[in-house]
Amino acid sequence: MLDSIIIGAGPAGLSAAIYLLRSNLKVAIAEGNMPGGQVANTALVENYPGYESIDGVELATKLYLHATNLGVEYISEMAQKIEKNDKGFLVHFSDSAVQAKTLIVATGMKHRVLGAKGEDRFTGKGVSWCAICDGSLYRGKDVAVVGGGNSALEESLYLSGIVNRVYLIHRRSEFRGDPMLVDRVKSVPNIELVLSDEIEEMIGRDYLESLLLKSGRTIKVEALFEYVGFLPNSELLTDFGVLDESGFIITDGNCETKVEGLFAAGDIVAKNIRQIVTAVNDGAIAALNVARCCR
Ligand code: NAP
Repeated sequence: MLDSIIIGAGPAGLSAAIYLLRSNLKVAIAEGNMPGGQVANTALVENYPGYESIDGVELATKLYLHATNLGVEYISEMAQKIEKNDKGFLVHFSDSAVQAKTLIVATGMKHRVLGAKGEDRFTGKGVSWCAICDGSLYRGKDVAVVGGGNSALEESLYLSGIVNRVYLIHRRSEFRGDPMLVDRVKSVPNIELVLSDEIEEMIGRDYLESLLLKSGRTIKVEALFEYVGFLPNSELLTDFGVLDESGFIITDGNCETKVEGLFAAGDIVAKNIRQIVTAVNDGAIAALNVARCCR
């Protein structure tokens, strides 16, 4: 039996694994996608202490290698179901089940979709949620980004180095993201701000060709990158009574839920600040409290 199983190999889950392994505990980590979570889809990270600027994939790889070099059992599959039993938690995968004394949920968030007319039709045909994956397809072309948070600002900056023009469309006149990023975006000549406007419809024949805005303006673009926030990946815990009204996991100062032995870390936790550094912080806190339980 494992001392702990971690679900989700983003910065929170991988940090938890590192701390648990250094406490000599038997640990597995399960992840259905690429390790690194949202970081692996981020072009540049410029606020992780110790690195003034680091490529997101490089940081994700460093975190992954740190955990795997310490010997974590890596399960390349997403958990299907979680059961609480008298020994702890039984985590079901498609063809197997793993028993652990404790569980750390670090499943993070998924991209919210805008929901505008034409979005389904052009998903993968111009509409994308990952500038780092798809940006280079639009080298020298005109694209749009929608959103006003740090993600929209950062990915607009990244795209501005590849494409001809970035239209950054935000529904308000003020941005939600960091003022320093806003200043940088405003200083880039090929980023055009389209403020206090929203996308009414995505238009094209086989691929996206233009966006009709609520103001009546039409913008000709070959791609739209959506950064309008995230939703929690907490479906596995719906029956545990630990979610808030938005689906985030409620924890105490030890990153533990009201269910004994069930911990949560990173963006999935109900909290105000979601940064790589706060995810890593949660992972360490959860792991050290698990280590205390298992001793
Ligand atoms: P976010 O901060 O939640 O921002 C989402 C943006 O999308 C907001 O500006 C929002 O507009 C807009 N929006 C939401 N629904 C919309 C709709 N239906 N139509 C048009 N616009 C809509 O999301 P995020 O930027 O992805 O960031 C998520 C979290 O990760 C944040 O805590 C952020 O600080 C963090 N993050 C940090 C970094 C970094 O520090 N380097 C990088 C990326 C993300 P309103 O502003 O009008 O609500």
